Amino acid sequence: MSITAQNVTKRFGNFVALDNVTVDCPAGELVALLGPSGSGKTTLLRVIAGLEVPDSGTVLFRHDDITKHSARDRNVGFVFQHYALFRHMTVFENVAFGLRVRKWPEQRVRDRVQELLRLVRLEEKAPLYPANLSGGQKQRIALIRALAPEPKVLLLDEPFGALDAKVRAELRDWLRRFHDELHVTSIFVTHDQEEAFEVADRVVVLNKGRVEQEGRPIEVFEHPKNEFVIDFLGNVNKLPVRVEDGRALLGETGTVELPAKLFGANENGRTDAYIRPHELDISRSAEGGNCLLGKIVHINPAGSVVKVRLLAEDFGLMINVDVTPDRYRSLALKQNENVYVTPKSARIFEAEYTI
Ligand code: ATP
Repeated sequence: MSITAQNVTKRFGNFVALDNVTVDCPAGELVALLGPSGSGKTTLLRVIAGLEVPDSGTVLFRHDDITKHSARDRNVGFVFQHYALFRHMTVFENVAFGLRVRKWPEQRVRDRVQELLRLVRLEEKAPLYPANLSGGQKQRIALIRALAPEPKVLLLDEPFGALDAKVRAELRDWLRRFHDELHVTSIFVTHDQEEAFEVADRVVVLNKGRVEQEGRPIEVFEHPKNEFVIDFLGNVNKLPVRVEDGRALLGETGTVELPAKLFGANENGRTDAYIRPHELDISRSAEGGNCLLGKIVHINPAGSVVKVRLLAEDFGLMINVDVTPDRYRSLALKQNENVYVTPKSARIFEAEYTI
């Protein structure tokens, strides 16, 4: 079942929470709504769920306009950040709840609940109450409770927000498995870009009630459309440059040229260039000349890449560089040493130019 929100606008008083938003979720895909706090993610999810009525625009499930249907009639599963399990009901009864409301026969209820509890490996918790479960276990129960009545659409609002990093990662795997095995179309809200990129088939980046960019994670990562998106994705160096004769030059008087694509209209202006940490190289000599001198202020070698933080005093800039563990060992980098940093590529966004 595909889901489409078409030209959706939603106001709260004078405040525009969603401004002509169009989002397409192809059938069977897992889509992440990503954006800073207040960007409209939850409002969009609630409009799709039928918990909020848009001022204008339509919501389609497949080709059917369901904008005016009640939440109850939409057959969606909803998972919230804070579990929202019924405290006075056992785990079994929590999962069975939606099935009993729909008047499933008792034997079918039992089979379905057992099957789902097995899937999340929590069969032995069936007679317990939510208070006796850990946060991760509660959220697994909340997930299967939403999935029990076999919805075609699963909507999740920051489902793992309240959990620690390890449990979050585990639950991400669960979500991906459920999604694939149970053939639903899922939309989940997160402000954690790493989570979105890891688990989703598509990501939609929202900002101030508008869609900034939408696409496969790799497309959005490799071709961020504007400064907002690259900044929001995080982990990027932002360096002030001036543009002269089609070249992007770093600093006031410096002559370090950044290998960025420029556009004619942007001549002789000041702007920012964005360089990801792996797009910079560290070397011991200034070979080639087009490099910055930097003093290593911190090295974090614990990880699959080694993170090096440098101060380029001539430019008054802190720069983050990622190097491979092999490169780190062969250069024998140490704190307080001076090394040379060479930009391999850089991005400059046309729209943000000031002349
Ligand atoms: P967060 O990550 O903080 O949950 P979000 O991107 O999900 O943020 P929304 O919850 O959709 O953002 O809210 C978008 C904007 O709409 C916010 O500025 C919020 O204050 C406003 N808003 C949401 N619901 C209401 C409401 N019922 N009444 C008034 N304003 C609201």
